[in-house]
Amino acid sequence: MKPVIVWFRQDLRLADNPALHAAAASGTPLICLFVLDDTSPGDWTWGGASRWWLHHSLTALDNSLDGKLVLRRGDSAKVLKSLVKDTGADTVMWNRCYEPFAVERDTALKVELVKDGVTVQSFNGALLHEPWALKTKTGNKPFRVFTPFWKSMRALDVAKPLPAPGKLRHHKIESDRLKDWKLLPTRPDWSKGFDWTPGEKAAHDALYDFLGDVGDYGTARDLPDRDGTSRLSPHLHWGEISTRQTWHAVRARSHSHGSETFLKELGWREFCGQLLFHNPGLPTQPLDQRFAKFPWRKSQKDFDAWTRGQTGIPIVDAGMRQLWQTGWMHNRVRMIVASLLIKHLGIHWRDGEAWFWDTLVDADLASNSANWQWVAGCGADAAPFFRIFNPVLQGKKFDPRGVYVRRFVPELKDVPDRFVHEPWDAPQPPANYPKPIVDLAAGRMRALQAFRALKQ
Ligand SMILES: Cc1cc2nc3c(=O)[nH]c(=O)nc-3n(C[C@H](O)[C@H](O)[C@H](O)COP(=O)(O)OP(=O)(O)OC[C@H]3O[C@@H](n4cnc5c(N)ncnc54)[C@H](O)[C@@H]3O)c2cc1C
Repeated sequence: MKPVIVWFRQDLRLADNPALHAAAASGTPLICLFVLDDTSPGDWTWGGASRWWLHHSLTALDNSLDGKLVLRRGDSAKVLKSLVKDTGADTVMWNRCYEPFAVERDTALKVELVKDGVTVQSFNGALLHEPWALKTKTGNKPFRVFTPFWKSMRALDVAKPLPAPGKLRHHKIESDRLKDWKLLPTRPDWSKGFDWTPGEKAAHDALYDFLGDVGDYGTARDLPDRDGTSRLSPHLHWGEISTRQTWHAVRARSHSHGSETFLKELGWREFCGQLLFHNPGLPTQPLDQRFAKFPWRKSQKDFDAWTRGQTGIPIVDAGMRQLWQTGWMHNRVRMIVASLLIKHLGIHWRDGEAWFWDTLVDADLASNSANWQWVAGCGADAAPFFRIFNPVLQGKKFDPRGVYVRRFVPELKDVPDRFVHEPWDAPQPPANYPKPIVDLAAGRMRALQAFRALKQ
């Protein structure tokens, strides 16, 4: 019997995996394949934290497949074509990825395989709705504004998740050894503080842990010292759990304000996905073209201070250290650190985007680029550039007692609560903590002047 190849990509799960489901239903032996392709994504090959996640996630997937996951490294199209030739496989199935380079690669591959007489079937396993499914009523165009997008999306039914397939039959074939791919950091091993368990089972555990608290999500999600959010983002990015599964689990548990707010965040994920699909330049080009001429400052010294959590601004340093130590940062703090970099320091949003890409375990081309553009004020439905977060006020509002800040910036542990977000005003500022690298009022003025000049 000719085998069927199931090409796993950002869908590292068995349940609600449409490609695997269809392949298993065919009753033929399967080749469950993952290709480490460091070639085709251009500048967007996986960053260090993503590679860490991938190593562990593939280990988990291989366990779920009884050790039958087939690993290959190289140009995906070449690997697929030669595997088809070597094994005589007559069908290839995959779940669609929507990054521009993936769309281009997969479209070309499909044409070539079909020309060679191979059946190719692709499915939607990543988003709740295809990125082309929702269009504006007037103009029939892709949405650029979130609220009408969400209204339109909320009115649609979300398909029910598929069950995990039963016992699978596997085609016998050699695999690369995961450890030869060297995805884990060694010298230095910066992943010691990564308190994550990748994999499908852990993704469901995280979801069910969170469901108990979903009612509080509306308020708790903005408080970085609390476990008020789901932390599902890396699991969702790698497809260890699907958005459909998450959506239906939340709907089944609660119809509260908290659960509705959470569903809306999944809506933002969809919004980012369709923005990237319709705007392939999103990771590199401002959607608002006026910003192409923005006079960005170049300062390696300030950028390094930002990446290392040494800006002297507590909530920013706590966020950047959380990112470095754990591979993740709270959403509210992501907005604050991004705003400081872009606005007070005047550094290009793309530099921040690239740093996040390398250090986040949930680094996702659509969500990362759309959110950086959102903070920079140059994206779709973006926060206006002139609305500049004051990181001291943000800290006081969302971390009033400095619990979060002290967790990641121990230099501030003895600073009284009322000075924890502006330690420079404390009666005894801590000697081992830097003074702010930017005067917040002056940085704000400089940003506004640059913006005014841009508008003229
Ligand atoms: C500058 C910046 C960069 C970001 N880069 C990424 C990224 O690379 N990958 C990523 O997944 N998210 C990114 N986000 C969005 C958001 O910060 C994270 O999705 C969220 O913090 C993940 O934590 P959580 O799973 O606990 O979220 P929850 O609050 O529990 O939300 C549930 C899910 O909704 C989705 N979601 C929530 N907020 C957003 C949002 N603003 N945009 C898109 N999807 C959202 C995520 O999939 C998330 O897992 C970025 C935000 C900013 C401001």
